Amino acid sequence: MNEDDPATQLSLFDPAPPEPRAAEPEQQRIPEQRAPQARPCPSCHRAPDSAPEQHARDIAQQWLEITATGQIAVRHFCAACQPHYGLAFLACELCGLDLFLIGELAHEVAEDRLPTVLLTWLAAEGWSPHPVLTCPSHAR
Ligand SMILES: [Zn+2]
Ligand SMILES: [Zn+2]
Repeated sequence: MNEDDPATQLSLFDPAPPEPRAAEPEQQRIPEQRAPQARPCPSCHRAPDSAPEQHARDIAQQWLEITATGQIAVRHFCAACQPHYGLAFLACELCGLDLFLIGELAHEVAEDRLPTVLLTWLAAEGWSPHPVLTCPSHAR
């Protein structure tokens, strides 16, 4: 070993250099970032095409569906990937805040049936079905 080499001796007392971090996952890279606060769509993970405010409203919208196990699942979509067919809607009678329903659940509600699992979910979220449907801000 080359004990006289000062560089080698010094390095013995240096803290070990930090491990280089593993590369960040590819999905973190957003091709074209229009605004710093714009989040990629939680469903399709694409960067927004629409204006950031519109995109934020789009992905804040709650879409409800019944899962294979009979539970209510809340989904979020951007303008590009949201469903366009077989929809139904429930809205607060006082402010118009609405829930979009898809799949089997949309079919039930379109037929004027509110499945128990949906009523249970609405109640847990603070919605009130009586005397008219009201959102958490307006339920009493
Ligand atoms: Zn999307
Ligand atoms: Zn309301």
